[in-house]
Amino acid sequence: MKQPFVSLDEVKEIVKTYPTPFHIYDEKGIRENARRVREAFSWNPGYREYFAVKATPNPFLLKILHEEGCGCDCSSMTELMLSEACGITGEEIMFSSNDTPVEEFRKAADLGAVINLDDITHIDILEKELGRLPETVSCRFNPGGFYKLSNGIMDNPGDSKYGMTEEQIFEAFRILKEKGVKHFGIHAFLVSNTVGNDYYPTLAATLFNLAVRLKEATGAHISFINLSGGVGIPYDPDAEGADIAKIGAGVHQVYDKILAANGMDDVRIFTEMGRFMMGPYGGLVTQAINEKHIYKEYIGVDACAANLMRPAMYGAYHHITVLGKEDRACDMRYDVTGSLCENNDKFAIDRQLPKIDKGDYLFIHDTGAHGFSMGYNYNGRLLSAELLRKEDGSVQMIRRAQEPRDYFATFDCFEEFSSLTE
Ligand SMILES: *Cc1c(COP(=O)(O)O)cnc(C)c1O
Repeated sequence: MKQPFVSLDEVKEIVKTYPTPFHIYDEKGIRENARRVREAFSWNPGYREYFAVKATPNPFLLKILHEEGCGCDCSSMTELMLSEACGITGEEIMFSSNDTPVEEFRKAADLGAVINLDDITHIDILEKELGRLPETVSCRFNPGGFYKLSNGIMDNPGDSKYGMTEEQIFEAFRILKEKGVKHFGIHAFLVSNTVGNDYYPTLAATLFNLAVRLKEATGAHISFINLSGGVGIPYDPDAEGADIAKIGAGVHQVYDKILAANGMDDVRIFTEMGRFMMGPYGGLVTQAINEKHIYKEYIGVDACAANLMRPAMYGAYHHITVLGKEDRACDMRYDVTGSLCENNDKFAIDRQLPKIDKGDYLFIHDTGAHGFSMGYNYNGRLLSAELLRKEDGSVQMIRRAQEPRDYFATFDCFEEFSSLTE
């Protein structure tokens, strides 16, 4: 059973200061998980997790992860700026972008970030922008075709916009080496939200074999292999979660078999997880404000898809706990909706829940990654606050809620609408 990390009593206390809806994060859970991740890969002395900033771009959370040894994986100007503001710079930044504007390459280089090229044409673009190439360059690989795991999860990299073909990555390494690049990395992200334990080991074997061939063919010194993101979390309470210790051990095994056996035992392993690092340690707390009985039973809450887009966008399941009613029978069937003028603005459809009364607080689970960050302002709905439940149980606001003046801020250059922006 999924347990919220805050109780009804705590929420009642919190809403005295911070009204619903809000996202709340659990510092203890974040730190304990980050330590499990580090432990799982401790066999690789150079290991580093670069947290995918896009999953939860909050400086307070980035700093917590930094204290636990994580860097930042950035893919845009503002993500780079955020990382810089947290004091996370240099090789603690992995810049893994695509369709990259040159000024972002420039900013990444100015910060000393490790640059991961999504395309072979970016070699020239980067060289022209910087005058010369950095000493370390990484290339993103796309094996094409289908990518299948033993548990049946399959994705279709051949249809995705990311990375270089196998032929291109060999060519890219040759060119980069000729141009004086000294250290190389390889990156790939092939399947998202995998809940089994075999994605990383399978991907690692693919990339390790590629690394051996790249080294043989080009003489490049491969200093790291970046397994990127994609390790999943069990959104469904009946699903089993990924076991990071097993995943780390699985990668270790293929590392020894392929890399170490070919004299490449100095290769560092990097990851760029977002969801696995933060997803379960965030929740969206919202209040039931309306009920409606037509052809179906509806509960209207004060959050909407602007606060959490995944259900509307992907039909994603997010478990819901009605706080204080954890032990009641789930004998009602509801659609739990937000207020957007879009019929897909539903956090749950036909969900069995205990009877909900107006005023009840709902905890929507697993919103810690790709939750708040995918927020938007449709219908003029405003982004919520983000709160941190610290290890001692106290609550700190780590981002205030948007106010109308924020929504209207981009009219601040028009005198006649100054009433909106004050
Ligand atoms: C989104 C993304 C990640 C993180 O993915 P998760 O599924 O959250 O682990 C890592 N690297 C890159 C390049 C990404 O685009």
